[in-house]
Amino acid sequence: TSPVHVIGGGLAGSEAAWQLARRGVPVILHEMRPVRGTEAHKTDGLAELVCSNSFRSDDATSNAVGVIHAEMRLAGSLIIACADKHQVPAGSALAVDRDGFSQAVTAAIEAEPLITIAREEITGLPPEDWDQAIIATGPLTAPDLAAAIAAQTGQDALAFFDAIAPIIHTESIDMDVCWFQSRYDKVGPGGTGKDYINCPMTKDQYDAFVDALIAGDKTEFKEWEGTPYFDGCLPIEVMAERGRETLRHGPMKPMGLTNAHQPDIKAYAVVQLRQDNALGTLYNMVGFQTKLRYGAQADIIRMIPGLENAEFARLGGLHRNTYLNSPLLLDPTLQLKSRPGLRFAGQITGCEGYVESAAVGLMAGRFAAAERLGQAFTPPPVTTAFGALINHITGGHIVSDDEPGKRSFQPMNINFGLFPPLEPGAIVRPEGGGRFRGKDKAVARKLAMSQRALADFADWLAVEPLSQAAE
Ligand code: FAD
Repeated sequence: TSPVHVIGGGLAGSEAAWQLARRGVPVILHEMRPVRGTEAHKTDGLAELVCSNSFRSDDATSNAVGVIHAEMRLAGSLIIACADKHQVPAGSALAVDRDGFSQAVTAAIEAEPLITIAREEITGLPPEDWDQAIIATGPLTAPDLAAAIAAQTGQDALAFFDAIAPIIHTESIDMDVCWFQSRYDKVGPGGTGKDYINCPMTKDQYDAFVDALIAGDKTEFKEWEGTPYFDGCLPIEVMAERGRETLRHGPMKPMGLTNAHQPDIKAYAVVQLRQDNALGTLYNMVGFQTKLRYGAQADIIRMIPGLENAEFARLGGLHRNTYLNSPLLLDPTLQLKSRPGLRFAGQITGCEGYVESAAVGLMAGRFAAAERLGQAFTPPPVTTAFGALINHITGGHIVSDDEPGKRSFQPMNINFGLFPPLEPGAIVRPEGGGRFRGKDKAVARKLAMSQRALADFADWLAVEPLSQAAE
């Protein structure tokens, strides 16, 4: 069997290489360190953790990250096995000794007879005679390869920074205050004229909000990140600093909107949220990219009428991050539509985080193995954490069509907002009858979603011929 080439020996590339080899497929793993470094990596170890040493929550009953850990354990993930072996105490989180962890991954890959490690920088797209390759070069992909990818996909399809606006769980938005309406009731393709959620503000509320933005605690760019204010993607706090009225003439303009609850009162400013996933469980704040620190950011956004109890699927940020507009470019098996046989994995696909990157690497490895072995391979259902994440990357995200030229796909951690809603009756009733309310209801909902995910994942593993690793 000819080898599959995996480019990048980070979290995703190491996992993908391992999954291929476990299924009897030879791999050449190309890693540029130590020949060339990145701005964040410090060692030449595979799967180096560039910042925190935490894989986040390990609770598989109430947290979507914990659920994906559990699914990865069931699926024979190398990354999670090494993390479990090198765990350090961290409450309900899975944190690791970073050097021990990276050394364990490196040792396992080096000891695997079907994997050859080539310490070299790949400077262009895989040559045609590499009929199967996976690019897993991460958020800090070396510039020559990034330029080659951009040339293949189109310049607009590869981003070098993420300018992320906060994303909110729909059910936490107060619809007694907010209302659905598109500006001037405009009906775009596939739209209804009621595509946005609108939050009204009086002059006093707007003034207090602008003051809070200006006073808010901001993060600074690292020197190597530069100041990537581009494409009209100014952070809201920078807009606020440029003039008190700037936001009211920009993303918060009230024109063409009538408050359904108080039609006679003209709002002084309006914050709009746009549906973020096909399920309608998440909404993003239009034009609200920000570099406010997370604590300050949540507090300031909760000043907006209707968002007082907002629960965030992710907060806003602005980072150096190389990632594809995957919903347009990749097929459901993570393959570049314009070049069959070339897959992407890890953060470059638009997932976010160590665990998610490794998870996408695991799936990319299995898709490539199935193809090499001529076997059918069905991705896990969208009710599982794996399925929800792959669906977000390759299909579940709404590609904005109302603002031509703007891309709305942004990297995301795994979270319950990416899962389909529960079927009616899925939440068991409390002992003694009645219904769960408030916080208890949220806990019961998360438990039911976690249980559904793990049951569906176990069913999928049982029938999928390539799901079991050859020991
Ligand atoms: P990486 O782990 O970065 O692996 C990519 C590999 O490809 C690297 O080893 C690199 O050397 C190699 N490579 C790049 N270009 C080439 C080339 N042309 N040829 C050959 N090899 C190449 N996530 C968290 O969960 N927690 C955090 O605390 C966290 N902090 C982060 C801090 C920073 C500064 C950054 C940039 C990201 C952070 N992330 C964090 C996000 C993300 O989870 C990690 O970047 C994660 O390592 C991504 O996994 P990956 O496998 O996609 O990429």
